[in-house]
Amino acid sequence: MKLPDDGPKVVGFVVGLGSTLLASQMSENCVKILAQDPLLAYYSRMAIPGFRALLASFPIPGDPLGYYAGSWREAAVRHGLLPVYSDWECCYALTEGAEPVYTSDTRWTDTLPLTNQRHRFIVLAQAAERYPELAFLRPKRAPADPTCRTCNGTGKRVVNGVTYEAILCECGGLGWYPAGSELGAV
Ligand SMILES: [Zn+2]
Repeated sequence: MKLPDDGPKVVGFVVGLGSTLLASQMSENCVKILAQDPLLAYYSRMAIPGFRALLASFPIPGDPLGYYAGSWREAAVRHGLLPVYSDWECCYALTEGAEPVYTSDTRWTDTLPLTNQRHRFIVLAQAAERYPELAFLRPKRAPADPTCRTCNGTGKRVVNGVTYEAILCECGGLGWYPAGSELGAV
C-alpha cells in the first residue's frame, strides 16, 4: 500500500532489515501483533493533558505536514487519535492515554496497539518533536542505551554529505535508542 507523501519516511528500516526483503516483510509485519515485550512497560504513560484541545486545534496553522480531507492524519483525528507520522506501510498515532497505535489502513478502520519497543520509542520521540505540548513524552536516555550507528548520534540522515531533513532515522531522530530494542514487526 502506498501512503500519501505527507510525512518523513523511516529509511532506518532499510538499514536494519535489508532493502531487498523490506517491502514484503513490512507488509506482513503490519498486520501482525507480537507477543508482549517485557520492556514495554517502561513506555506506558499517563493520559495526555489537553489531548482533546490538541485534537480540536486541527488543522494547525502552518502545519508543515499538511492536513486535508481524506488524508491519514485527518482520519486519525476523526477517530480521536493524534497523528504522529507515517512510513511506507503504516500510519502511527497516539491515544489520549499516550499509547502508540498504528494502522495499515489510511482510514484508521483497524487501529492496532504498537508492541515493538523501538517503534514505540520512535512514535514517542516524534510526537515530542512535532507537538511542543508533548515534550514530556520524549524518551529519556539510560546509561546503557547505545548511540545510533546509522546517524552516529546526530539524529540526522546524511548520505554522501547531504542531510535529508525529511527522512527519519531508525532512532527517531534522537541519536540513540533503547538498549536491546530492534526494528522489526510493529
Ligand atoms: Zn539515528
